[in-house]
Amino acid sequence: MFSKTKIFTSTGNSSGTDENTKDRTPAGRLGSAPAEADAVVIGAGAGLSASAGMIYTGERFEKYFADFRGKYGFRDMYSGGFYPYDTLEEYWAYWSRYIWINRYMDPPEPVYENLYRLVKDKDYFVLTTNVDHCFQKAGFDKRRLFYTQGDYGLFQCSRPCHQATYDNGETVRRMVLVQGYVTGADGDLSLPEGRRPEMTIPSELIPRCPKCGAPMSMNLRADDTFVQDAGWRQAAGRYERFLREHEGKRILFLELGVGMNTPGIIKYPFWQMTYRNPKAVYACINYGEAYVPGEIAGRSVCIDGDIGNVLGQMGLVFL
Ligand SMILES: [Zn+2]
Repeated sequence: MFSKTKIFTSTGNSSGTDENTKDRTPAGRLGSAPAEADAVVIGAGAGLSASAGMIYTGERFEKYFADFRGKYGFRDMYSGGFYPYDTLEEYWAYWSRYIWINRYMDPPEPVYENLYRLVKDKDYFVLTTNVDHCFQKAGFDKRRLFYTQGDYGLFQCSRPCHQATYDNGETVRRMVLVQGYVTGADGDLSLPEGRRPEMTIPSELIPRCPKCGAPMSMNLRADDTFVQDAGWRQAAGRYERFLREHEGKRILFLELGVGMNTPGIIKYPFWQMTYRNPKAVYACINYGEAYVPGEIAGRSVCIDGDIGNVLGQMGLVFL
């Protein structure tokens, strides 16, 4: 429905709602849209968590996975997660660290908390492809969240023989402790001075399906074994209902850090819903990838920048 030739980055003069104003700050460019919105629909991708410091490379990778880098040459957490380990004992040694730091530890920067402060008194709903649980950790209402791609905090049967998911917090904690790590009061993971971590876990800690005995796997959408349990289906239903109940109203579609890996989940539907609803406003904050089709440019604001910084500047306009 959108012509590709009309897609442009809207950091230039012709962009969206700010055409007639000289105020180029994010707040100025958004104008009164957030304050006047009947509802805010947040669509969040990996860029939001990256802005919160959930970085899968560099220093943070080195701190927890230097031994795996040394053995296999991994350069980031993702590649270690996809690696076909010879044993489940080693696979879960890697994955338990990965899950712990990305699901059970708080993100380094309070970006999610700041976002929550902006919308907590609004009628809001969150659609996200992020699986790191950051929205709930920051206080967002679970009934206003739809995690489409799963959650690092959930196991499922790898076959799967049944459609249920299981909280993995205690199991994962035991797995990291047995490798020599200690966990602090805030969930922080560290090694005692001079301790080298084990790169394997005892066989008895390998999680198994309570019904069929097959190994458990992560509840992450990677292929057609992904379990959409009752909680997932309820969240999907609540999201659809929210959109239905606000049809035709003044909705701010606030898209944060959504790239082009899976645009069909958030980006394209947000564009289409904005196109169909003349009262809707589309705002996109993304580092390096902020653009919008020409058809909805008049009701869009695209901001190329760090989400954490931009949210800070936007604070006032939501009040
Ligand atoms: Zn099973």
